[in-house]
Amino acid sequence: LSALELAFSVEPVTGWRIWRVSREIDRRRTAHELAVELLAAERRGETGAVARLFEPRLRSLTELGFWPARERLTATCGRGAAHTAPQAACECGVWAFRAYERAYAELLAYAHGATPVLLGRVRMWGRLVEAEHGWRAQYAYPADLTVFGGDEDVATALEAAYGVPVTATPWPAEQAA
Ligand SMILES: [Zn+2]
Repeated sequence: LSALELAFSVEPVTGWRIWRVSREIDRRRTAHELAVELLAAERRGETGAVARLFEPRLRSLTELGFWPARERLTATCGRGAAHTAPQAACECGVWAFRAYERAYAELLAYAHGATPVLLGRVRMWGRLVEAEHGWRAQYAYPADLTVFGGDEDVATALEAAYGVPVTATPWPAEQAA
């Protein structure tokens, strides 16, 4: 996508995107790394660090990071550049489509996966690069979500974690395996 315009947004724009759902415990890591992390959380006086590892969280389909709950996601340059994301000449920033139909088409490409995939609206603000089919943004937070192929428990856990409406729905009949 070619960047057409760079703007500093005062009002959030709303786009559509897809996520997968994952748990911190699913990350490839060693028992030692886990123990060090949990010990550090305990020393900071945090409670529920172990339980949080097993709670579903939003995750990008194309990048490694989790979307934080109850706080904005701040984009960083995926190419490791030192600049503030997004930059018009780069491809960094949080991506979202302008049109629901494009996000839905991307969702269907993942319809046969074993894990649920989410489709939803996302609010984006801060530094914005307008692209052919949507935007790349500096800051983002989900507005509402639909869990395709997921159960009610996943939807309930995500709704509690992120504080936004989440519904569960089966895959469309023509996409079911
Ligand atoms: Zn960049």
